[in-house]
Amino acid sequence: MAVPMAAADGRGAIGYRSTRAGSAAPVSFEAAMLAGLAPDGGLYLPVEVPQLPPGWREAGDLAELAALALPRLLGMGSAEVSELFADAFTFKVEVAHLSRDRHVLELFHGPTAAFKDFGARALARLLERSLARRSRRALVLVATSGDTGSAVADAFAGLEHCAVALLYPEGGVSRVQERQLLARRDGVAAIAVTGTFDDCQRLVKEAFLDPALAGLSLSSANSINVARLLPQCLYHLWGAARLGAEHETGPAVEVVPSGNLGNLTSALLAARMAGTEPTLVAAHNANDYFPRYLAGEARAFDFSASLATYSNAMDVGAPSNFERLAALLSAGPEVVLGASVSDAETLEQMRLSFAEDGYLACPHTAVGLRALEILRASGAVAGPALLLATARPAKFPEVVTAALGPGVADVALPGADAEQVEPRRIEPSLAALRDELLTLA
Ligand SMILES: *Cc1c(COP(=O)(O)O)cnc(C)c1O
Repeated sequence: MAVPMAAADGRGAIGYRSTRAGSAAPVSFEAAMLAGLAPDGGLYLPVEVPQLPPGWREAGDLAELAALALPRLLGMGSAEVSELFADAFTFKVEVAHLSRDRHVLELFHGPTAAFKDFGARALARLLERSLARRSRRALVLVATSGDTGSAVADAFAGLEHCAVALLYPEGGVSRVQERQLLARRDGVAAIAVTGTFDDCQRLVKEAFLDPALAGLSLSSANSINVARLLPQCLYHLWGAARLGAEHETGPAVEVVPSGNLGNLTSALLAARMAGTEPTLVAAHNANDYFPRYLAGEARAFDFSASLATYSNAMDVGAPSNFERLAALLSAGPEVVLGASVSDAETLEQMRLSFAEDGYLACPHTAVGLRALEILRASGAVAGPALLLATARPAKFPEVVTAALGPGVADVALPGADAEQVEPRRIEPSLAALRDELLTLA
């Protein structure tokens, strides 16, 4: 039974329950955020998704949308929500209109040039607020295949109540991404793991359940944390509202370049808030567990090892949000389709988009564009499509050069000249991580 918890504006705050908890009592948003992973190893989901009020499409910006969509989910008053999100989202979301009714929602205009800035900047403010209210400190542990780490490091640097430890696979991120990860920042330690991203992600989950680390107040900034997913709902709604103004009902198809499936999960939550039923497309690279699961070719949780591809932020063999997504999908009317795109098709799509539309897409965005082509060609989807552009192409100069030759992506990224630190290096074992974290505390 749901325990009513009063939000600051007097409306009932919504509780959160683990995907594995069955009928256990729900916890507050703050408890779910601070814990990251539920004690039983499951992922938190709100027990209810509140409906947006009529007229939400007229909201002027993401902060205004936040004040309509999130107060009960965050257990905060709408004025405070609006203020927090106005402070977090200081950059624009742009829409690029391509040929054949394709509309690209550019989510990479934040400080680290990938969509992770949305979740990370909102989470930093939400966490800092909760910890300050409790006079507590926390160590935020984050596994990164590139973009999450720099977004979290940038968003959390210098906070009074949170320090950050970033785990990344040594040699598994691009040079630009590694420079961003190793920029000197107050309260942020970078740890290079001699393993894969899946190793990093597994180590984070193990560290959370390790009694020897209980004293560190670990928290997670990965998309296992529900507090990162909720802010991401806002740009899905924003895109649907912008394009709804041009099309009678808004785009029927939304394409999400996917790895850990956090962005897709937030798209699904956003559709529930809006009461719309778009066809969601999970666009994957060769790490295609989820498309195979959807096609009935892989069983639930029968994951594979990750493979290195050009769209490296999506090189995930065991998507951490699969458990949450599976729980949501079993209880809803949404249509989710999957497609898998090879490296050769990714490069070809980058060339094609540049030639056809003069549009330079990062490799992840190109996977989305190609996935749409595949599903349109097979007749699985039709009509206008909203595609998410998840990173700025200049973050991946090697791939842009492989597709289009030199000189196309030579744009300096923000912070490119930041002072660098040496990473700490560990083997992919919990014992090695434990030692490292205890020296940080
Ligand atoms: C993280 C990331 C993705 C995948 O998003 P998920 O939420 O993990 O599915 C796609 N593209 C880029 C550029 C990313 O950084």
